[in-house]
Amino acid sequence: MEQIYTYGSYLKNKFGCKVYKVGINISGFTCPNIDGTVAKGGCTFCENDSFSASTGKAQELKSFHLNLSSKENPYLDKQLEQLELQFNAISKRQTKEYGAEKFLVYFQSFTNTYAPFETLKALYEKALSFPNVVGLSIGTRSDSITEETLEYLSALGKEKEIWIEFGIQSIYDETLQRINRGHDSANVKEWILKSKEAGLNVCGHLIFGLPGETKEMMLATATEAYKWGIDSVKYHPLYVVKKTALANDFTKGSFIPISEEDYIDVLVKSLQIKPKNTHVQRVTAGINNDSLLGPSWCRDKNTQIKNINQALKSIGLKY
Ligand code: SF4
Repeated sequence: MEQIYTYGSYLKNKFGCKVYKVGINISGFTCPNIDGTVAKGGCTFCENDSFSASTGKAQELKSFHLNLSSKENPYLDKQLEQLELQFNAISKRQTKEYGAEKFLVYFQSFTNTYAPFETLKALYEKALSFPNVVGLSIGTRSDSITEETLEYLSALGKEKEIWIEFGIQSIYDETLQRINRGHDSANVKEWILKSKEAGLNVCGHLIFGLPGETKEMMLATATEAYKWGIDSVKYHPLYVVKKTALANDFTKGSFIPISEEDYIDVLVKSLQIKPKNTHVQRVTAGINNDSLLGPSWCRDKNTQIKNINQALKSIGLKY
């Protein structure tokens, strides 16, 4: 049975020890698709409130939002403090529970290049100053990263492990419009290619089960994303949570989520055609709480992984 090349193995091979991603949520960050710059309301599946941190300091920052043209950031010190608190707590737990030895600081929630350059620089540099941090992984949108930031990250990438994570989701513009994505597929391709040219590592996020898509379309998205040269990939099924535009469509019956059988079928085919050196960071997703409206198979991660491995077995692969 051939083991699929995972991100964990890549990091272990490169750094010779267990490297864990430390997911960070910085208050004050938002998304141009939420604040009205490119659209309002966000992607139809995005429960924007669920991204908000809820600690005391985060509450103070809740109504404050940065964007690319913000002239000043009076909360930078608080954001830096929040970064340190989160890093310390999470990395300590990862060391204790999983034996993590080194870390990548993962700017995870919202659009983490969507702020004035000086703010980004301060946060990234602070993150890189923490003990045993080997690099950064920055989740963002392709329409929200400037040439200045790219150039800066490219220079950082000569010394550190720097990743940019782009939401590709689909290569079909009609789908991107339907989910209110606020940018087209050409824009994602352009910035992935630019990031690669700048010597950065790129992770692409794909969603299977988007409204109106056939399995052939999902597979075509994976095929195209591999051609763009992504180094790493995260596959997700589209699931519906409360308080989203998609929840209304689901309740009305105008959106039917992908079945587990179809998801696994597309996933297995996508893994089969994936270039060997593209590592896999995630093969599924879900949420096990009251906010999930459907599909119910997205509630239980262990069963999902078990079923995926069962299907992979037939083609000689395991995850
Ligand atoms: S780009 Fe991300 S944060 Fe912004 S609306 Fe879409 S899912 Fe939400």
